[in-house]
Amino acid sequence: MTADFRSDTITLPTKGMKEAMLEAPLGDDVFGDDPSVNALEEKVSALFGTEDALFTTSGTMANQLALKCHTQPGDEIICDEKSHIYLYEAGGIASNAHCSVKLIHGDSGRINAEQVKDSLKAEDIHFAMPKVVSLENTMNKGGGVCYDYKEIEAIKSVCDQNKLKLHLDGARLFNALAVTKETPLDYGKVFDSISICLSKGLGAPVGSVLLGMRDFIKKARKQRKAWGGGWRQAGMLAAAGSYALDHHVERLKEDHLKAIQIGEILQNQWYVKSIYPIQTNIVIFELPHSILATDFVNELEKHGVRTVTFGKHLVRFVTHLDIIEDHISLTKKALEAIKFA
Ligand SMILES: *Cc1c(COP(=O)(O)O)cnc(C)c1O
Repeated sequence: MTADFRSDTITLPTKGMKEAMLEAPLGDDVFGDDPSVNALEEKVSALFGTEDALFTTSGTMANQLALKCHTQPGDEIICDEKSHIYLYEAGGIASNAHCSVKLIHGDSGRINAEQVKDSLKAEDIHFAMPKVVSLENTMNKGGGVCYDYKEIEAIKSVCDQNKLKLHLDGARLFNALAVTKETPLDYGKVFDSISICLSKGLGAPVGSVLLGMRDFIKKARKQRKAWGGGWRQAGMLAAAGSYALDHHVERLKEDHLKAIQIGEILQNQWYVKSIYPIQTNIVIFELPHSILATDFVNELEKHGVRTVTFGKHLVRFVTHLDIIEDHISLTKKALEAIKFA
């Protein structure tokens, strides 16, 4: 048995999901003819109360489309220095949107309204002008922590006063919604665009959805085509996404409980220097300077537990749909048995 905590993207479609995929009515989505894709886009835009939605191949594509469609080359994007859009999208801000970036040092990757205000500047011949503020919720590199909605509202009001678009990288927004009191409608109201991942905690094999106003989505649909992302009979994938939204949202709480279990096991190990606060399905912990994260991850893998390094001395666990109770006991044994030369 192997317990694979590398990411919540590794989940495989369940039997019910595969059945839904096989039954999906299909058509050519470039012509707007795929009933299952249309149903998914309608379902998600109704859930968030946005005018329209676009099914994309990945969260990266959804984020990059949003940044590209909100900006002109030479504009500036404001985000935290730990953002996925900055660190993990292969330099797409530069190569796709041709934009500059203003990095903010937030609280575990969460920026605040004051910081956004402080990074604004008066029009000047020297400056790249900010056009978009991009937030991430939950914040991956910050350990899966959630934004306080009041702070998001405060950021929105700074954006409104300064004609900035507000984008949300909501790859794990449903994890945040499982532990905070807001609803998707609350999020649809404050953001100009939102990307959500169907293939992370929700367990679909592929796909993300970009949300926004009708004109914005129309522009994004054309840009998606230009990037080669116009797909044909994508309905089987869309049906998996719809199934995930119907069946796998409530259960995210189980992943969060398992993350807390992992945290409790880690707490008792001599080699754990600190653990980031655990709010959702991500556990990041710090090793002492004498132990490299790469060595730790390789050693742990020999005991049947797979994780990833998240810095020189940082290791990340992500809990998900395919983690069962037996994986937790295996992990406990492995973490207790692991030895360093
Ligand atoms: C996974 C992830 C994405 C998108 O990743 P893809 O692999 O392109 O689907 C975007 N933002 C965050 C915070 C993520 O964790």
